[in-house]
Amino acid sequence: MDKKQAEELKEKLFNKKENGWKGKLQEDMENIFEYAKGYINYMNKSKTEREIIENSKKIAEAHGFKDIKDYQNLVAGDKVYYINHEKSMYLAIIGNKPLENGLNIIGSHADSPRLDLKPNPLYEDSEFAYFKTHYYGGIKKYQWTAIPLAIHGVIVKTNGEKIKVCIGEDEKDPIFTITDLLPHLAQDQMKKKASEVVEGEDLNLLIGSIPFDAEIPEGVKLNILNILNERYGITEADLLSSEIELVPAMKCRSMGLDNSMVAGYGQDDKICVYTSLTALMNIENPEKTAVCIISDKEEIGSMGNTGMESHVFDTFISELLNKMEINKPNLLEKVFCNSKMLSADVDTGLDPIYSSVSDRNNSSYLGRGVGLNKYTGARGKSGASDANAEFVAEVRKIFEENNIRYQISELGKVDVGGGGTIAYILANKGIEVIDCGVPVLSMHSPYEVTSKFDLYEVYRGYEAFWKNA
Ligand code: MN
Ligand code: MN
Repeated sequence: MDKKQAEELKEKLFNKKENGWKGKLQEDMENIFEYAKGYINYMNKSKTEREIIENSKKIAEAHGFKDIKDYQNLVAGDKVYYINHEKSMYLAIIGNKPLENGLNIIGSHADSPRLDLKPNPLYEDSEFAYFKTHYYGGIKKYQWTAIPLAIHGVIVKTNGEKIKVCIGEDEKDPIFTITDLLPHLAQDQMKKKASEVVEGEDLNLLIGSIPFDAEIPEGVKLNILNILNERYGITEADLLSSEIELVPAMKCRSMGLDNSMVAGYGQDDKICVYTSLTALMNIENPEKTAVCIISDKEEIGSMGNTGMESHVFDTFISELLNKMEINKPNLLEKVFCNSKMLSADVDTGLDPIYSSVSDRNNSSYLGRGVGLNKYTGARGKSGASDANAEFVAEVRKIFEENNIRYQISELGKVDVGGGGTIAYILANKGIEVIDCGVPVLSMHSPYEVTSKFDLYEVYRGYEAFWKNA
């Protein structure tokens, strides 16, 4: 066999793993960059799960979706949503085929790692006022000091009045920060393990330093409470029934001299929320019922009544069956057993600086398209939902027929670590599920990085799944 024949054979037999930007037409490039602008805009308005749900509701309603309570009956083509405690959301477009044939589901999560305020957050020390925090999700605590932070959330008074708070996003707003120790005096700190360099109890947000205008103990704290009272009509006790989140005040931005990437907070997993939601908006009269899940609490185990482990999603699908007047015993279980799902969560991208944790042949790369994980888990795949080969083949077929670039990988080297998503929760109901999302660098940091190529490819991939699965 000569060299040319060998090269032809290689071309035919090898799984080509090429950079997706190569050979892109000008028109495609424009579509990619334009789509990324919409994403960046959405991200800058949606830093918390409540904001994600509020803004996603607006997008859905602008495309003809209505609250399920506003439908007496549901028929093919109807677009419906249900919002669960302002933190998670399920959307559906009723398909032409009976629901018993199964649903096509794409499910992401709207919550991201952050710092929550403690129930009794406010204190004064050495004439500074602080908010005490309790971190949410898997973070490297040292990454959250010496960066600008914004305060987002709600305070609910006992009379039911709900006050929305958002300080630090507008250019005119003040921002907040958690101080760090100067290197000159950090000899002991620098010898500590990274997990202990900054302790959880030291993640205290600096929020004020002017004492109240009279000689009185805790004058700075009093001044802060007076400001909060004048602005929101609240007292210290009202913070007991609040959900205030500290998130990076940095804007989501286009990144790189070639503008090829996006840097921003909370892309895990808001990037999959945006791509799935916008893909759903392109679906009209699907064959199978298209369902989009935006879940909450994924970063802390999906528990609670807004997490995916709750039964509220089942109730939503039961309601669809009721309002179509087709419900009967065990139908819900049958619907699930015939359903297919992309668990839309971010994938880890290979970072050349930290490549020692990755098996290069089984890593996702930024710029190579949709990142699929057949399984996640840790050690011997512990805790994994391992997608069936038949379903993996089906998803490959959809992507290949629609010219969507994808890669199938693992989260790091064997025994180095592990992770999970909502995949197993839906798989436990009998649904065929595979993890499918956008590769990310600096995952769970205050400033995550993604590729605009992958962003657009995942959006196209989700649309293709809903249209063809
Ligand atoms: Mn995630
Ligand atoms: Mn995560």
